[in-house]
Order: sequence, then structure tokens, then C-alpha cells
Amino acid sequence: MKKVVKFGGSSLASAEQFQKVSSIIRSDESRKYVVPSAPGKRYASDTKVTDMLYTCYDAAVNKKDFESLLSAILDRYNEIIKGLGLTISLDHEFEVIKDNFINEAGRDYAASRGEYLNGIIMATYLGFDFVDAAKVIRFNEDGSFNDTVTNDLLSACLSKIDSAVIPGFYGAKEDGTVITFSRGGSDITGSLVALAASVDMYENWTDVSGFLIADPRIVKHAKSIETITYKELRELSYMGASVLHEDAIFPVRKAGIPINIRNTNEPQDKGTLIVEGTCKQPKYTITGIAGTDGFAAITIEKAMMNSEVGFCRKVLQVFEENNISIEHMPSGIDTMTIFVHKKEFEEKEQQVIAGIHKAVHPDHIELESDLALIAIVGRGMRATRGTAGRIFSALAHAHINVKMIDQGSSELNIIVGVRHDDFKAAIRALYEIFVLTQI
Ligand code: ASP
Repeated sequence: MKKVVKFGGSSLASAEQFQKVSSIIRSDESRKYVVPSAPGKRYASDTKVTDMLYTCYDAAVNKKDFESLLSAILDRYNEIIKGLGLTISLDHEFEVIKDNFINEAGRDYAASRGEYLNGIIMATYLGFDFVDAAKVIRFNEDGSFNDTVTNDLLSACLSKIDSAVIPGFYGAKEDGTVITFSRGGSDITGSLVALAASVDMYENWTDVSGFLIADPRIVKHAKSIETITYKELRELSYMGASVLHEDAIFPVRKAGIPINIRNTNEPQDKGTLIVEGTCKQPKYTITGIAGTDGFAAITIEKAMMNSEVGFCRKVLQVFEENNISIEHMPSGIDTMTIFVHKKEFEEKEQQVIAGIHKAVHPDHIELESDLALIAIVGRGMRATRGTAGRIFSALAHAHINVKMIDQGSSELNIIVGVRHDDFKAAIRALYEIFVLTQI
């Protein structure tokens, strides 16, 4: 049994957190490959090292005083080194970083140093080999990620090493130019290492005990999801639930490697297991509820619309020409409604309305803003009668008017649209009926 363990920034923000991480790794021999993030926040108002590095690099490029900012970053690492009782010095590394900042090595290079330095400390502390991600995670000349070469380089390298620390978030082009993934990208590195080393499990350690059934800021003490499939996860992440970087899923999914989200501060919790498929019946009819607000709806009415060939296409083309992406499109006999992100739509609203008038000559166009969409997701819904009935009675009892309904043909989700003001109450009502009372 072999595992990759990735630790997020809050799990590595201080010496105390490093100690928790090391006892997690040492408690299970199969935890062979470690992917660290950069030190995150130690308390709510703290700054992540990655953000400190961006600010510092910008100052260097703008010929402002960046050395004091750089020494504040060194202080953060030194505090960890001292707290762990290690004797290594990062002074030389910081001299190199300073020179590279002066020579404008790039913002990606700057940000990547957060993971790089944390990796050196972690490898020293654990007595594991250190593998610089710049040597094994490959980007193409145009900056896009090269999965084939990466997998070859990584698997060749790891096949010769028993246990290693590979810093997350970055890699390099063939000429050595450092490139990072998007923010939160250490999750992707973890997934790539899991694939290349063909491990049995990718453990992703963070500061929550897995995915929660609902957003804890809305539902206090929301329970966590034990097992979720990749498809369910995709539906929930699309609606704003986030614990894991979206791009981290593909490499391991392809290889059938499960991901286990775990909590560094509560290592006894089982967390959430993300799998391709499972015969395990979910505990509740639904797996999770997620929602986002900030949507606008454009309803177009025209008598006999249904018999007008090409009507939808012409309307959609107006949105395409204005570069607005469409989120949902429920329709009636003589109406069609388009849900879009309000922010994206607002600036171009008059152009779009004029465009629709010109394209299809509607009888009426109605605009509604401040709408929220809520997805109720669960593989268990397929086998259960009356799920929709329960959703609507829960919302009706909470005096919430449903503005839109959309059930995917996979029966994996039901999406309802409600007014922004009803958003939180709707999520609470749904959680209550499916999880608390289980009526
Ligand atoms: N340190 C990077 C960030 O803050 C990457 C990561 O933590 O995954 O986004």
C-alpha cells in the first residue's frame, strides 16, 4: 500500500502544525510521498506566504523597497525551523531569491518559492528525499501543462526513491522557467504524483473534516459527506462548494485512485472519500446541497415561439456574440428563460436586449436580478421516489417561492432558483428535511 499525502497551507502555517503533519505521516508507513503547500494563515487576519511573495516581487519589479518584505518572509520560515529544533539555514536560498527578483524571474517563480522552501524544511524534518518540482512537473513553451512528459519524468524519478517530498503548485518549462498552476494548485501536484507513483490512495489534508453536506456558514454544524462520487462532486463544485482544486480530479480519476479529504487538526476523523463509483448506499437521499447567488434571469415571451424554427439558436447567438456564458435555460411553450451571472450580464444588458429584439422580435422581455440557484445533488435520488415532492414541500413550508426548476436527466441533481433573500432559508429548509428529520 502506497499513499500520497498533500498538506494545505493552514496545515503548515507554523512549527506546531508541522509537528501534527509529521506525526500523521509517521503513524502510517504507506504515506510515502508528501506534497506540501506554502505556509498559510496562522490566524484569520494573517497573510499567506504566497501572497507575501507576490507583493514582494511586485515591489522589486517596481523598484520599491522589497528587501524588508523578503526578510519578513524569511522570518516566517525561520520561526518554523526554530520551532522544530532544526539547524538548517535558508540564508543562501534567500540570497538566490533576492537576485532572481532583481533580475525579474517572473511572478510565477516568486510565488513558487513558498512551496519550494516549505518542501526543503519538510524533507529535512522527515528525513525524506527532496525532489524539486521544477525538474519533474513540465510545462510547454506556451505555458500550458504537459501531462505526458510530467508523468514520464515523475514516475522515472519516484521509482528510484522510497519516500520523498515534492513541493506543490509549480513546475517548469524545459528551459527551467518556473510556471505555477492557478491558486490552490498544490492539489493538482498531489494528484499528478499519485498518478505517476500509482499509489492506492491520495490523501488531501486540510482544515475541515471533508466535504460538508451544506455550507457551514449557512447550516451550523453541517455533517460531512462520507463518500461522494466524482460526478456528484463536479455538480456541487460547479455550484460553489469548494475544498479541492477542480483540476486535481482528472489525473486520479483516470487511474481510479480515490481521494480522501482529511483534517490535520482532527486526524481521527475519517473525512470524505471521493471515488469513481460505489455500491455503498448514501446515508441520506441526498449527498449534498450547494448554491450560489448573483444570477439574473432574462425571460423572453413570444406567441407561437415553439413552432419558430431556429428561435433558440438566434437568442443564444446574441449571448455568444456578447461573450456571456449561459448557466441554465428552462423553457415553457411560449417562453424561454436564460440564467446568467449578473456581474457578467450587467455591463452588456442593453446590448443584449437590443440584440434579442433584432434577432427574434419577441412580444416581451422581462428581466429579474438577485436570484440564487441551489443544487440538491445525490446518487441516491435516482432510486428514491418523491425527492422533488420533498424539496418543494420543504420550500413551501419555509414560505419560499420557487422561481425555476431544473432536473438533470441523469437524476443526479435537481436545481431550484429562488430569490436572493430566500437563499439561506432555502438551504436550511432542505438540509432539515433531508438530513435532520429525514422525512
Ligand atoms: N500556495 C498556493 C496558493 O496559496 C498554492 C496552494 O496552496 O495550493 O494558492
